[in-house]
Amino acid sequence: MIKQTRRGFLKTVLGSIASLGLTSCKSVSVSESFDVCVVGSGPAGAVLAAELVRRGARILLVEGGPLPAVYQRSPSKDVCNLESISESIPYPVEEAHFLGDGGTSNIWSGDVPRLQPFDFDRRNSYIPSDAPWPVTYEELEQYFQKAEQELFVHGEESTSYSPPRAKSFPYSLGSEGNTINLKRLLGGHGYLVERVPHTLWEGSVVNVNKTHVPPFLSSGKGHFLRGAWITRVLSGSGRRITGLEARTLDHRTMTIRARHYVLACGGIETPRLLLLSRSAEFPHGIGNGSDLVGRYFMEGPLVRVGTAKLPASRKYANPKDEKAVSWRFYRELKERRLGGAIFEFSLSPAESKLTLGAVLEMKPSASNRVVLSEKYKDCFGLPAADVILAMSENERKTWRHVKEIGRRVFTDLGVKSFELGSGEGEWCDHHMGTCRMGDDPKTSIVDRNLKVHGTENLYVTGSAPFVTAGVGGPTLLLTALSLRLSDHLVEKVLRRGY
Ligand SMILES: Cc1cc2nc3c(=O)[nH]c(=O)nc-3n(C[C@H](O)[C@H](O)[C@H](O)COP(=O)(O)OP(=O)(O)OC[C@H]3O[C@@H](n4cnc5c(N)ncnc54)[C@H](O)[C@@H]3O)c2cc1C
Repeated sequence: MIKQTRRGFLKTVLGSIASLGLTSCKSVSVSESFDVCVVGSGPAGAVLAAELVRRGARILLVEGGPLPAVYQRSPSKDVCNLESISESIPYPVEEAHFLGDGGTSNIWSGDVPRLQPFDFDRRNSYIPSDAPWPVTYEELEQYFQKAEQELFVHGEESTSYSPPRAKSFPYSLGSEGNTINLKRLLGGHGYLVERVPHTLWEGSVVNVNKTHVPPFLSSGKGHFLRGAWITRVLSGSGRRITGLEARTLDHRTMTIRARHYVLACGGIETPRLLLLSRSAEFPHGIGNGSDLVGRYFMEGPLVRVGTAKLPASRKYANPKDEKAVSWRFYRELKERRLGGAIFEFSLSPAESKLTLGAVLEMKPSASNRVVLSEKYKDCFGLPAADVILAMSENERKTWRHVKEIGRRVFTDLGVKSFELGSGEGEWCDHHMGTCRMGDDPKTSIVDRNLKVHGTENLYVTGSAPFVTAGVGGPTLLLTALSLRLSDHLVEKVLRRGY
């Protein structure tokens, strides 16, 4: 995790402003003729910015972090309990993302399976009937492929249950992290497993501050303004967004202007910024005419399904611990109108132990939402984001069935001694759904091109536009959406000159 001293941070801010030819007065204006201003340098923003400059657009990338204690509260316990009847779960926002150059890719795990085609299918009972995904898996195929290239995704041959793919993975996982024991143990019972597709660049998990920001800067078309926190999206009397208000820790205020604006601030900060941007034209916040901004927040509960003791006499081809995932039960759960799940098997030959975990899909619910806190303020004195999150009967039903699957697996394997989980688990720190995409402005916030309904030139990318969560992790899909957005913006800005 990158840590920066306050002194070093201020130096970076001043350096960034100076490089844009601005003087060090209290209030400045960044008004060069940028085609697009992208806010947020995590995977969604950095990949988009790098792709746009590669294709010839002039881009300003703005990053506001690191900030001191944005959410002035003590962190809550990082657990979720699927059997609990408690209505509201304390959610530790501060620990769940990284604000700074490269965003949360500084601390993420880098596992990037695709969503399943059925996640986008209208028969999926988790898709609201009045707000379906405006894109299909087939339309996204080419962008998934591009996203896998961009994120240096390494994978192995998929099973018949895995999300389908038109081409093989750009990079092979090779023999490291062998799963021969798991494949032998489970394969004979039809429980097909594979190693989870994973990002890898120069031996580490991909950090877009290293993979995408340097080519963005060396393109000659990209400017990176660091340490400028966007506090308001400015609008005039029409549908046009006229600028962004930014503040720095040394009390400067700036106005940033470009022809188009893209918010790539993550699933929590993006709705907060839209809600903070009230004006005469948008009295409830931008895009919030139907009171939907911030609603349908979805996370990924990661639960321990069970643990089994295997016979100590069992022989193993590989003495090392192994891990692999299985999509085997995904369809079964969805056909029962439950949340999907991806299962993870972990085997320890030394301890003769097999552990089964799962990431579950949460159903979009209007009452799970990001709101402006009435109690907590950020370091600029603006309302912080509060996450209101509760498990519903949908999640509990999914959990009960997942536990039954665990029982079935262990029984099929002939395991005599096993213990099933209590429903307690952790959050994956995946923030989805708070600015969902759709064709109907009454039921969605951004359209199929990710443009905020009711505006001419404001876009949102990232996992905020997700209609449903799926279970594989949001980063591959959100990168695919950013690449798809780059096609739209290139067409609009460079070909049609808007
Ligand atoms: C511990 C951990 C493990 C994870 N593991 C995985 C995984 O294995 N697989 C997976 O798919 N996902 C994983 N994730 C989630 C993944 O990191 C996110 O999905 C991804 O980083 C989101 O990218 P983003 O660009 O949309 O947002 P972020 O990466 O959060 O970047 C947003 C950026 O915007 C900046 N910003 C926000 N608001 C403003 C503002 N107002 N002004 C200026 N700048 C602003 C922030 O400082 C930040 O740098 C993990 C997350 C965590 C915390």
